[in-house]
Amino acid sequence: MTSHFSVAMTTDVAQRLTQHLRRADGQEDCCFVLWRPSTGATRTTALLTDLVLPQHGERVVNGTVDFTSDYFLRAAGIAAENGSGLGFIHAHPRGRGWQDLNDIDHAAETAFAAQTLAITRRPLVGLTFAGTDAGYGARLWQRHTPRRYHPLVAASVRVVGGRLAVTFNDRLLPAPPVTERQIRTVSAWGPSTQNDLARLHVGVVGTGSVGMLVVEALARTGIRHMSLFDFDTVEEHNLDRLLHATARDVRLHRAKVDLAARAARRAATTLDFQVAAHETSVVEPEGFSLAADCDVLFSCVDRPWPRAVLNLLANAHLIPVVDGGVAVDARGGHLRGAEWRGHVAAPGRACLECLGQYDPALVTAERNGSLDDPAYILGLPAEHPLRRKENVFVFSANAAAAQLTQFLTMTTAPGGIADTGAHLHHFTTGTIERRETGCDQGCLYDGPLRALGDDTPLVVTGPHLAAEQVRADRAHAARRWPIRMERAVADLLVHQR
Ligand SMILES: [Zn+2]
Ligand SMILES: [Zn+2]
Repeated sequence: MTSHFSVAMTTDVAQRLTQHLRRADGQEDCCFVLWRPSTGATRTTALLTDLVLPQHGERVVNGTVDFTSDYFLRAAGIAAENGSGLGFIHAHPRGRGWQDLNDIDHAAETAFAAQTLAITRRPLVGLTFAGTDAGYGARLWQRHTPRRYHPLVAASVRVVGGRLAVTFNDRLLPAPPVTERQIRTVSAWGPSTQNDLARLHVGVVGTGSVGMLVVEALARTGIRHMSLFDFDTVEEHNLDRLLHATARDVRLHRAKVDLAARAARRAATTLDFQVAAHETSVVEPEGFSLAADCDVLFSCVDRPWPRAVLNLLANAHLIPVVDGGVAVDARGGHLRGAEWRGHVAAPGRACLECLGQYDPALVTAERNGSLDDPAYILGLPAEHPLRRKENVFVFSANAAAAQLTQFLTMTTAPGGIADTGAHLHHFTTGTIERRETGCDQGCLYDGPLRALGDDTPLVVTGPHLAAEQVRADRAHAARRWPIRMERAVADLLVHQR
């Protein structure tokens, strides 16, 4: 049994629902839907995959709507046959925003919750559609005793694609009050956009040079709930690019993610700011399930394996991934060029594999440890991104800005435009290339893997020996007494601020 519940669907499914449920005559309508689970560490999401529309005579519209048992049995049969769960959605034609469960709907849905579980082996998902603004309400009918079912009310319903549009349950996730510190930000886009942005649970995967800047910007913008992922330690060669990092952090073998979380707490402008620092990679099972709790993920990594895992989270689990990166061409010791990218992987947009952001063959190499073997890396072509480590602060800042811009465009949709394509910026020419097409023909992420959630047949996580080694080294260093002493003093100074 899960503690938090949410629903997600693609823009395509949402449009088909609106088309069916918003009637010209203003009456209520309903239909059954199919769903698959996406299980995070603390949240379960029902991913809506398809509609089972009523056939002639299967429902009666007369002020309120009713459906026949034939319709229910047909829809439940389809769900059972392809291993999906069953959901039921009905419209409140004059509703606006989040839809609470009323007594009539409660009685109607409990009436077939037991039968749904018996036929599909998955609990019934109940949904309400608000006719005025295409808002939603949702709940998962959990069995308490053989005859008693209780609704676990969702905290949000997310529509994912070109735009990320979330209906929040104001009772479970109230909008944080606007603070004095946010006056300039809120006057730029208004309180309702701020309320939507602030309540997103944002994950930042990789808190190196780009990720650290992303964390800073999100905390200042007023995002209330952040999860940070990085197993790395601050090192001497990071200091030219890693915001907030000092020589002391190097001496103390500080985890990058701890530095990021500490900086975020200081930068946060919202009340009740929550940040969790995870010294894990998203390729490890624990990191993966923590990432599956997020509404949006920033990919600030440069390795193929985590990028492949994030690509799966974007397309199979419907969590948009804002990705990017920097490539510097310094062959012969001269700066010949540099480029940075910002794009979003989500249904209807090109995935990270189709954008060429990782090579599937190298995912296998990384999983078996080859990419952490210096000999293997030296065997790659000289211009291969995994061999080229050149970078400067300003390029990282540009990449962070390119990713943050993509995030803002997707969530705030200025002028109604949420998707401006994948951006590639060239330093030497000052130009931007944009790719506005989706995945290449035959891409698995754009086809059979879409919204499969936990039912995905691919096993993408596994033990990460390099991460385990880095954590062990850090734990070992932390036991040495000069480091313990200096850490204690440093922490004391932080608490006094
Ligand atoms: Zn109702
Ligand atoms: Zn693709």
